[in-house]
Amino acid sequence: EVIPIQAFMEDLMEEFKFEMEERNIDFHYQNKMEDDCDLNLDRKRINQAFKNIIGNAVKYGSNKDLVICITMKRNDDIVAIDIEDNGPGIPGDKLPYIFNRFYRIDNERTKDLMSTGLGLAIAKELIQAHGGSITVSSIEQKGTCFSLEFPIVKKTKEGGKE
Ligand code: ATP
Ligand code: MG
Repeated sequence: EVIPIQAFMEDLMEEFKFEMEERNIDFHYQNKMEDDCDLNLDRKRINQAFKNIIGNAVKYGSNKDLVICITMKRNDDIVAIDIEDNGPGIPGDKLPYIFNRFYRIDNERTKDLMSTGLGLAIAKELIQAHGGSITVSSIEQKGTCFSLEFPIVKKTKEGGKE
């Protein structure tokens, strides 16, 4: 489905904002895009991907004053969305594996948390099914940032073919 991204994100972020307020999490969404543009998105699948990524930020960062920031901007033919948290971060030696199926980091902090290690593998598949990509950067004790990119659907000129 070809969807204008700005309203889609506003709605999605509004849903999260509500949930975050209840959990006392400082949640920010910033749209740095000037003009709207269209993406080819399956709403349910993209919602699921965001739930998995933001759900992790909540789950693994809940032992301190958590701040989650989502930023959307445009880079040429791409919409870039960053999902940043100030949680515990992920050790550099584990970072290459977090998108693998069933990979989870087992430690004192995570041992009591319910998890299967599928959340990010699924998120990555859903994003790639949209022609998009997801990458991660993280610093221990500082936080984690997931960067999503989606190709913009070019507007067809009126009367023109493409
Ligand atoms: P599931 O999502 O299936 O419940 P999971 O959360 O363990 O299980 P993933 O979502 O795939 O699995 O995440 C893999 C691992 O990456 C997690 O076990 C966790 O250790 C680490 N991780 C993911 N996101 C974050 C984050 N925002 N901050 C810190 N660690 C994270
Ligand atoms: Mg998860």
